[in-house]
Amino acid sequence: MDLDHEALSPATRAVALGRPPREPGAPVSESVTFTSTYLAGGSVNYARVGNPTWTALEDVIGGLEGGEALVLASGLAAIDAVLTLVPPGGRVVAPGHAYNGTTGLLREYTAEGRLEVVALDISDTAAVVEALDSLQAGRDLLYIESPTNPMMEVADIPVLVREARARGILTAVDNTFATPLLQTPLADGADLVVHSATKYLSGHSDVLMGAVVTPPTDRGRELRQRILTRRTLHGAIPGPMEVWIVLRGIRTLSVRLERASANAAELVRRLADHPGVTRVRYPGFGAMIAVEVRGGADGADRVCEAVRLWTHSTSLGGVESQLERRRAQPLEAETVPESLLRLSVGIEDVEDLWRDLAQGLDRA
Ligand SMILES: *Cc1c(COP(=O)(O)O)cnc(C)c1O
Repeated sequence: MDLDHEALSPATRAVALGRPPREPGAPVSESVTFTSTYLAGGSVNYARVGNPTWTALEDVIGGLEGGEALVLASGLAAIDAVLTLVPPGGRVVAPGHAYNGTTGLLREYTAEGRLEVVALDISDTAAVVEALDSLQAGRDLLYIESPTNPMMEVADIPVLVREARARGILTAVDNTFATPLLQTPLADGADLVVHSATKYLSGHSDVLMGAVVTPPTDRGRELRQRILTRRTLHGAIPGPMEVWIVLRGIRTLSVRLERASANAAELVRRLADHPGVTRVRYPGFGAMIAVEVRGGADGADRVCEAVRLWTHSTSLGGVESQLERRRAQPLEAETVPESLLRLSVGIEDVEDLWRDLAQGLDRA
């Protein structure tokens, strides 16, 4: 009898899915398939359409999110594929503090007159629901990111998705920060989940990759087909080697996230009492923290320069702890405080992390 994947917990799915068929002598791990084309007569004729290494990773990500996944070249390629589901002239309700590449892309589409964007505080449920009333059924999109990057605002996903669905509005959720181990928006009725697999899913800061996941319903399959067509015709495809690296990384997602989250929770307890810190933003789960520090932008920059173990770098979700002053990024929203440091907590020993961070914060 075959293994019932539905009965497995997410931690097990991350390990067990996306494996070659269990036959005597078969490899246990999926290999990297380097080919640009296939012998005629099969279901996939060319490598812009499909690749067995992609399929393995798609099985894992889809299995974790409770849907069907498509891998794309980067998180932004995945987000762009979702935004192009909205026809020209359509409206998107989105967080004012979404990932700065997302807000940058929305700004571009607004400037070109392709989309209208209603940017708001995604944690203000009443305001988002009110904005939904200005959207047109079957055309517009509610785009959620939760927790938001870098302000750590948390959306009430079940309520927002329910309200959007009741109005015939498509919903997409960027699940990069929480990962499917902490939140599964498709189970709440969302139509699309997007990931920057560059972050926690791969987990080692060595590759860029994105994914779009749709529910296993008629409506979900129709959306999936449109994303697949977009991937095939616009060509934002990932390389098989990169996909294999993510496949290798996602196997340990559960232990990495567990350790990083425990580290983050402990650091949050200590950060609150550090005199260099004026505010801690932490949603109570996950391994991302934002802190505001004394001394404004200069104080925050001094912390970035002073750390020796933490890496001062953009990006997040790797095994190594990273920090960055977000407003140093040109695209970052002006409502993000100048002194805000985004901390991506890794899997190192928490005492080492604290010692290094605390001596940095002493200079804020
Ligand atoms: C990094 C990030 C993205 C963009 O992903 P890339 O892989 O860098 O293209 C999108 N959303 C969130 C929340 C991110 O952190």
